[in-house]
Amino acid sequence: MDIDRLQKRFSSPSGDLRVFEDLSMKFPENTITVILGPSGCGKTTLLNILAGFMPYDGGVIRRKPKQISYLFQEPRLLPWRTVERNISLVLEHHITDRVKQNEAVHHYLELVGLQRFAGHYPHELSGGMKQRAAIARAFACPSQLLLMDEPFQALDLDLRISLVNSFTRLWEEDPKTTIFVTHDIQEALMVADTVTVFSKAPAQVRGTVKISIPRSQRSLEDAELSKVERKVLSLLLSSRG
Ligand code: ADP
Ligand code: MG
Repeated sequence: MDIDRLQKRFSSPSGDLRVFEDLSMKFPENTITVILGPSGCGKTTLLNILAGFMPYDGGVIRRKPKQISYLFQEPRLLPWRTVERNISLVLEHHITDRVKQNEAVHHYLELVGLQRFAGHYPHELSGGMKQRAAIARAFACPSQLLLMDEPFQALDLDLRISLVNSFTRLWEEDPKTTIFVTHDIQEALMVADTVTVFSKAPAQVRGTVKISIPRSQRSLEDAELSKVERKVLSLLLSSRG
């Protein structure tokens, strides 16, 4: 998928806010693009436009996949459905056989370590477990594009590390074109094929760093990854100006 000269303005009585003024980017198929950038630069707006939640004022979006999964900061599970039935909801249309449906649901629950909680309701789970269920749902849905808006932000460090690991495990098993917005450089370094840094609004691409180390071999102590980190940090510092 790629976007070419995307334009987006928000109008208000006090004037227009230009969020995108000719933003162009490529999102190579089945890779993870992480977007970092200052608060308010337009990251969520970009995901909302790509999800079709929000109109845009100009430019072109090419080769956008039809089926999209969206992982938000909060899990957004349906409170009246069990974990299992929250996940089966997104499967119902493409797997109609009940037994196969059930197998698929339990496969994804197992991969995020929630098989024992299949019959629980969301209010019976901790924040981290709910977000695990949301990740399982995002992968259970037969989507070709996955949008992630700071999905691990609200969680403490240990949980974040374990969710990032669950996520990369699921992703390696079933790669999708993924756009992952985060504030956390370490998350970016562990997950990304490409890290893109945005400037303040109107957002422009300040720079792009590719990470060629295989995800399974990455460690934050690794010298090569530290080099990448320094590049990303300097782009982030320059993005404030
Ligand atoms: P980010 O996710 O990078 O922090 P957002 O995409 O949420 O930034 O917002 C970009 C800018 O657009 C911000 O200044 C925000 O206040 C503004 N904005 C976002 N959504 C709306 C909206 N629906 N109406 C008016 N302004 C908006
Ligand atoms: Mg945002």
